[in-house]
Amino acid sequence: MRIEVDIKLGFKDVMIRPKRSTLKSRAQVSLERTFTFMHTGRSWTGVPIMAANMDTIGTFEMARALAAEGLFTALNKHYTLKQWGEFLANADAALLNHIAVSTGITDNDADKLDQTLTQYPGLAFTCIDVANGYSEYFVEFVKRVRRAHPNQIIIAGNVVTGEMVEELLLAGADMVKVGIGPGSVCTTRVKTGVGYPQLSAIIECADAAHGLGGLIISDGGCATPGDVAKAFGAGADFVMLGGMFAGHDECGGDIIEHQGQRSLLFYGMSSDTAMERHSGGVAEYRASEGKTVYVPYRGAVEPTVRDILGGLRSACTYVGAGKLKELSKRTTFVRVQEQHNPVFE
Ligand code: 5GP
Repeated sequence: MRIEVDIKLGFKDVMIRPKRSTLKSRAQVSLERTFTFMHTGRSWTGVPIMAANMDTIGTFEMARALAAEGLFTALNKHYTLKQWGEFLANADAALLNHIAVSTGITDNDADKLDQTLTQYPGLAFTCIDVANGYSEYFVEFVKRVRRAHPNQIIIAGNVVTGEMVEELLLAGADMVKVGIGPGSVCTTRVKTGVGYPQLSAIIECADAAHGLGGLIISDGGCATPGDVAKAFGAGADFVMLGGMFAGHDECGGDIIEHQGQRSLLFYGMSSDTAMERHSGGVAEYRASEGKTVYVPYRGAVEPTVRDILGGLRSACTYVGAGKLKELSKRTTFVRVQEQHNPVFE
């Protein structure tokens, strides 16, 4: 046994220190970024915020709404080939460029991925997603997808440490998804004791990825637009959101009445709800590692997107970053013991 004693931080442990700036208004801030991906040489321009590949969040409806604002959606892996066909019949190039197909790593997943990418060659991004990205089998799977689909932009995760980010990039991933345990409906830290504070994970993993020409996606743990700004400030290239996009018209599931309030069900992909829905129940050898919650209905996602982007533009203005790209260079975090004033809570 060994103990690492240097301090690791989460979003709640820091604030971004304001800096002198020549910017007159937040309207001057550009949130678009252009990336060139290390294995394919393909490039992408957009606002690097991504809806999570969860049943309730990574939906075709969400993809249409977010792509209209320049944001990205990782579609959940449960759509059938037929559903993909119907969705893609009226998808333009801009939409195709803002979505990823998601897959697990079973043989069935591999077959379905091969069929989907063969049948719909316009799809450019593949997200290979497992809860624990530390297994050798997972690395082998990434290598196999890279070999079979050399032109795909591959996202792989999740991990939280630099050495594993490097291994996945060298195995063929262009982007690595970072985050174990910070999610709003995740109970991994409680059930297993395993995890890593998200802000430190981003800082360490971004450093490892950027050294090789790869990118990282901070996945999970953002509860406010301020957290999204902190994730970018720490060095994330993309930020993936689940809970912050929950409760909208574009989400999967019906609006239901819960305790007198119009609500939507939101659940983790390892929750009892998800496992019952997709695998016929929780297998005997494992525990559920996700929560099921009711989220108040919030209408269309577009005002929420505007709120997040407004906060992010404002954060850039506070540190004098005219472009999102400059935010991490201009970020100094201060360690704090308090975040906000709770008087009216
Ligand atoms: P959020 O933005 O809601 O804080 O986090 C979203 C992320 O939580 C997802 O992208 C995914 O990585 C993670 N997640 C989703 N469902 C589960 C689950 O059931 N268990 C765990 N451990 N993580 C989950």
